[in-house]
Amino acid sequence: MADEHASGKGSAQRNWVSLIPFGLHQQHPNNYKDILDAVWENRDNLGYAYRILRDGCCDGCSLGTTGMHDWTMKDLHLCWVRLQLLRLNTMPAMNWRRLEEVAPLRSMKGKALRKLGRLCVPMIRHRGDRGFRRVSWEEAIRLIVQRLRVTDPHRLGWFLTARGITNEAYYAHQKVARFIGTNHIDTSARICHAPSTAALKETIGCSATTCSYRDWIGADLLVFVGANPANNQPVTLKYLYKAKKAGTKILVVNPFVEPGMERYWIPSVAESALFGTKLADDFFHIHVGGDIPFFYGVLKHLIEQDWLDRNFIIARTVGWEDLQSKIRDLPWENLERGAGVTRNDMYRFAQTFGKARHAIIVWSMGITQHRYGTDNVKAIVNLQLARGNVGRPHTGLMPIRGHSGVQGGAEMGAMPSAYSMDYPASDQNAALFAMPEFWGFHPPSWKGLGASHMILAAERGEIDVLWQSGGNFLETLPEPDRVRQAFGNISLRVHQDIVVSSAMLEEPADLAVLLPSRTRYEQHGGGTETSTERRIIYSPEIPGPRPGEARDEWEIPVMVARRFDPEQAAKIFPWRDTHDIRHEIERVCPTYRGIAVLYKKGDQVQYGGLNLMTDRFETPDGKGRFTPIDLPEETIPKGRFFLTTRRGKQFNSMVGAEIDPLIGAARDSVLMASEDATRLKLGAGDSVILRNELGEYRGRIVLERVKPGSVQVYWPEANNIIPAGRLDPCGIPDYNAAVEIVSASG
Ligand code: SF4
Repeated sequence: MADEHASGKGSAQRNWVSLIPFGLHQQHPNNYKDILDAVWENRDNLGYAYRILRDGCCDGCSLGTTGMHDWTMKDLHLCWVRLQLLRLNTMPAMNWRRLEEVAPLRSMKGKALRKLGRLCVPMIRHRGDRGFRRVSWEEAIRLIVQRLRVTDPHRLGWFLTARGITNEAYYAHQKVARFIGTNHIDTSARICHAPSTAALKETIGCSATTCSYRDWIGADLLVFVGANPANNQPVTLKYLYKAKKAGTKILVVNPFVEPGMERYWIPSVAESALFGTKLADDFFHIHVGGDIPFFYGVLKHLIEQDWLDRNFIIARTVGWEDLQSKIRDLPWENLERGAGVTRNDMYRFAQTFGKARHAIIVWSMGITQHRYGTDNVKAIVNLQLARGNVGRPHTGLMPIRGHSGVQGGAEMGAMPSAYSMDYPASDQNAALFAMPEFWGFHPPSWKGLGASHMILAAERGEIDVLWQSGGNFLETLPEPDRVRQAFGNISLRVHQDIVVSSAMLEEPADLAVLLPSRTRYEQHGGGTETSTERRIIYSPEIPGPRPGEARDEWEIPVMVARRFDPEQAAKIFPWRDTHDIRHEIERVCPTYRGIAVLYKKGDQVQYGGLNLMTDRFETPDGKGRFTPIDLPEETIPKGRFFLTTRRGKQFNSMVGAEIDPLIGAARDSVLMASEDATRLKLGAGDSVILRNELGEYRGRIVLERVKPGSVQVYWPEANNIIPAGRLDPCGIPDYNAAVEIVSASG
């Protein structure tokens, strides 16, 4: 185990934050309170809650667990995200009669709606109805199929969230969607890591993380870019603690000096809980969107100092000469202006990076959620290839995922462009899948739409049916009013879910159907998820209560397929449980070989092993590709600020607390640099209006270490001033905007 590395290199005290125990004098999460809160919240079902924690695979972020353990360390693996999500699994069925009248529910916030309890019976609502009416499963499925039969598949969209959904359910949904004839199928990966998927596929031939978490511990260097794991993947902080103990250095590149990356009090490590742990060794305070110029500047230094792995470049890559000549021509002034840091800052980074024998770069949505997100990822790949940092232990490229289902969802084919990760959608593969040993029907090969494009198409009146399994576009996509209008054009909306969301309450153009779903822990035969490190982990069915008439997540679309074409479906969907689905996945997705034999707690298989691409890349010629990307042009009109978004104590758009525990800021906070506030004659606590062509957002100034010229606000609250149509080439919205800031008091 990687723990063996953590045997005490470096002086312990050097990394302490303070002698004041438990960081009582500083703002940071109180994880002990989170545990007590979880016990209180689940007090009516404590036995079941404990069994989920003890035996299930966490349905939170994508680190992946078996019970409360993992494959990186021997210690306990548990965090507040998981504790907070627990209630979604243990809460009793809701009083479904509350849905008979939606008006009172429409004023409730997401958290209050979730607290109503679990959806437990199928319900329908026609246009003009005051609310939903209870129906049988038989009637709900009949109504859906009736409409699907008369719907052009090009006008049918299918979306799945990443919250807790298992690989088996993703696979079943996408196969049913394609059986009905559409390629417009997507997951919430499209609004988080699609640029990582696209860029990695293009440059190294595989869109997954190339290394494992245990590689962090013992690496010379870890670099975090545009990531805030303290809020989004909390247990990584424990990995970082162990990495520091093993002598690993940590660099952070970000427009906000995240306190959670500077220091943290890890509750289950006595030393850290008492004295805190300093994490980042150095910080690079770049502009929002300054990543490409920053990494180009670093590469320019690496070239000038000859801190390159030339053997690796010659033997294993193509495109270096083009990239090198592009970099040589880039003036330092342009790079400094774009990055927002000096040439010397970039040298400091290059020096540490260029001298590290092993380095891993970890990135998240600060990199991807830009209109040039794919290029941002390619800039990271350029850097790692130049140093030969792929394929060896303790090196790698890691797009860290925030949700347990994100990695597996796309790999199972719940995306427009592939039937499974091994088979892109194409005429040739459609013909292959038509053979009986594959699917036995001809899936569509036309170009399907991703999530953002589906909603834009609905706005134009081009989508008639939208199936949503979890998720809430009204909260997750920019410009919610436009999403609302788009919903108004969709004749049939199907919401398969476990709890009530605001999107369900929107008046349908014709019909809205609610289908109650079981969670991963309730699913017959259990299910699997794939973690960021490519580990396919089995999560068993956990004995406990089941809410009302809810059905397994995979089974619901299959019921539709069986009614849509009973004769064909009997052959194509012969599954009795998830075990049967795993056997089929094994057959049609060779990368997932081994999934068929996962059937009990602790079973897992990591495809590709600990490190991918140890001797060749997965591109057709086996070479990694350098990319001479262009510098992005980000022109913020004079007098405006570059607004970007951050996450607090939340899971996706599910906000768990009104205060961000890392900085003590409320959800309406506008994080601003002191010098900007002084210039605008504003102070901490002042009410301000952020406005642009789309509208206004009201908030309060919090003085923080954000890059001057930019402000940070909480997502999804500020979605109304984020433009909807500004997308990266792979369809991810650019969650940034230019805004003017004025005092609300005139
Ligand atoms: S860090 Fe992620 S996988 Fe681990 S317990 Fe928390 S939410 Fe679950």
